[in-house]
Amino acid sequence: MSNTTETIFSKIIRKEIPANIVYEDDLALAFTDVNPQAPVHILVIPKKPIVSLATADPEDQALLGHLLLTVQKVAAQAELENGYRVVMNTGADGGQTVHHLHIHILGRRPMSWPPG
Ligand code: ADP
Repeated sequence: MSNTTETIFSKIIRKEIPANIVYEDDLALAFTDVNPQAPVHILVIPKKPIVSLATADPEDQALLGHLLLTVQKVAAQAELENGYRVVMNTGADGGQTVHHLHIHILGRRPMSWPPG
């Protein structure tokens, strides 16, 4: 699969369509999910158009670490001190529908396990 797919998230990164952006830096963007599955539901994405975790390259190591630390920062900003769920749906069986790598942060309700 190509690693340069244009998706709806590309348009959000370029500010061509609106999003409720809660954090941005040179490498990452975080915005609220349009179809929230929890009282707090934020997506953290790289600006680089990586399709999924399955297609990330070894050269993306620092970027992937940066995304996780961005999750930590965004969760603190959202005052999720009781904890939160971090999800990276990957590929068809993972339930990924937008082919631009993204990390879901879900919070402010207790989560169950296993997920559906
Ligand atoms: P799923 O669609 O099954 O949740 P993904 O893990 O690929 O699978 O998640 C894509 C997420 O992107 C969904 O939670 C969806 O609500 C969200 N989304 C899609 N379009 C937008 C948008 N324009 N702004 C914010 N969130 C969006």
